[in-house]
Amino acid sequence: LSKEYQLMVRAKIPGGRLTAAQYLALDALADPYADGSLRITTRQGIQFHGIVKGDLKATVRGINDALLTTLGACGDVVRNVVTHPAPIADAVHRRLEADAKAVSARFGWKSRAYHEIWLDGEPLPLDQDGAEEEDAVYGRTYLPRKFKIGLATPADNSIDVLTNDLAVIALFDGDQLQGYNLALGGGLGQTHNRADTFPRLATPIAFVGPDDLIRGIEAVIAVHREHGNRNDRKRARLKYVVEDKGATWVKAELDRFFGAPLEDARPTPAFQVPDHMGWHPQGDGRWYLGLPVSSGRIKDTETVRLRTALREVIAQFAIDPVLTPEQDILLSNIADDDRSRVEAVLRAHGVALAEDLPPLALTTLACPALPTCGLALAEAERVRDPFVAAIHDELASRGLGAERLSLRITGCPNGCARPSTAEIGLVGRTPGHYAIYVGGAVEGTRLNDKLLERVPQDAVPPTLGRLFGLWAAERQGREGFGDFALRVGLDRLKAAAEAAPAA
Ligand code: SF4
Repeated sequence: LSKEYQLMVRAKIPGGRLTAAQYLALDALADPYADGSLRITTRQGIQFHGIVKGDLKATVRGINDALLTTLGACGDVVRNVVTHPAPIADAVHRRLEADAKAVSARFGWKSRAYHEIWLDGEPLPLDQDGAEEEDAVYGRTYLPRKFKIGLATPADNSIDVLTNDLAVIALFDGDQLQGYNLALGGGLGQTHNRADTFPRLATPIAFVGPDDLIRGIEAVIAVHREHGNRNDRKRARLKYVVEDKGATWVKAELDRFFGAPLEDARPTPAFQVPDHMGWHPQGDGRWYLGLPVSSGRIKDTETVRLRTALREVIAQFAIDPVLTPEQDILLSNIADDDRSRVEAVLRAHGVALAEDLPPLALTTLACPALPTCGLALAEAERVRDPFVAAIHDELASRGLGAERLSLRITGCPNGCARPSTAEIGLVGRTPGHYAIYVGGAVEGTRLNDKLLERVPQDAVPPTLGRLFGLWAAERQGREGFGDFALRVGLDRLKAAAEAAPAA
């Protein structure tokens, strides 16, 4: 008898774009093979949890049958390519959506092994050109570590583009694409008790024209492949090459692999993060509805039948869903006449729309953590909703309940829910205890700082409440919490956080 191993399977979905048929095919795998749920990841993919070893091959096969793949969703290769989620029918959005798909296709690794192991030697429908073991981009030894690519515009940085190994920032003049800034060396993972590991935002290094995106990315990957640390996986990410060698050295290497001197990165307009929840026009006469999904977990409970509701509206109204890096779902291509009917189906199943929830519930991310992640030190997904309720109460009692505030919770320092760029990051330290970080920027342009090292779970909301008290008393105008925290500094915040609660 072998052990009953339980596994996670992740589908790669560039830009989070699914057709209705693909979504329904994924949904159909959740009951026979997984734990009855689908989970939207912060990289716009879908994870299935609770797959027992004997069902692994059938699950991978089912994903392949939906014209999707798990190839490249894990491993020391280019991971799922993320981009802005809004399904808006203009030149900017269509270009980035097409770019994300092209980049994903170009950097899918080539090996017959995947097909032979999981698909009985049959080639993927998306990869019919005959795979060879020696891959031109990855070589025989692949990359030192995973490699994450994000594409964004300054007008929509809801993907937190600077947290990627390679942040591609498209610069447009109106509808005209000018080219892309390449920022290298982002990544949020760190290891406890290893001071030489740390979160980092990508550094703008070079600019490439509209026709040179793929060649530019090939050059960046070559820098990682040739210079990434292959002796120490904790320091194998591109961010440590950029940090250790410096931007000038990296630019020279980039030029060498590109085969010509690249232009320096151009000035980038200020980043913005639009709110995609609720109803929005697509610009083609149709609408999309941004639907919040707590921790990205699509499942049915006794009171909220989210999975059933999504299955029904997607099938009935031919909705193409888009998965967002904030773990939510955008229901696209909805005719004006169908909007009230879609809402009615969702509400009939107990599903809350964005307008029903406090702002904090729309801006809080949580990683899976316990019980499915073997690296978790503390809870995240299972404490997300209680944390949101308690922290919202702390805000509301100080007249701050309507404020938008980014809160991100992870069960360990690996950073899967991007806690390091949040205005408030809660990072699991030991069971029932969290480090509290403050001072990130909503726009994803600043890392936060550790305020407290090990706060018991029950003490987190009242501790934050004392910080909110200071914020309410001393904020300047509409100053956000992250900006306020940066301005007043850690010493004052720490004094407020550790002050004795009012009797
Ligand atoms: Fe697991 Fe840590 Fe990632 Fe959470 S942040 S999913 S606990 S590795």
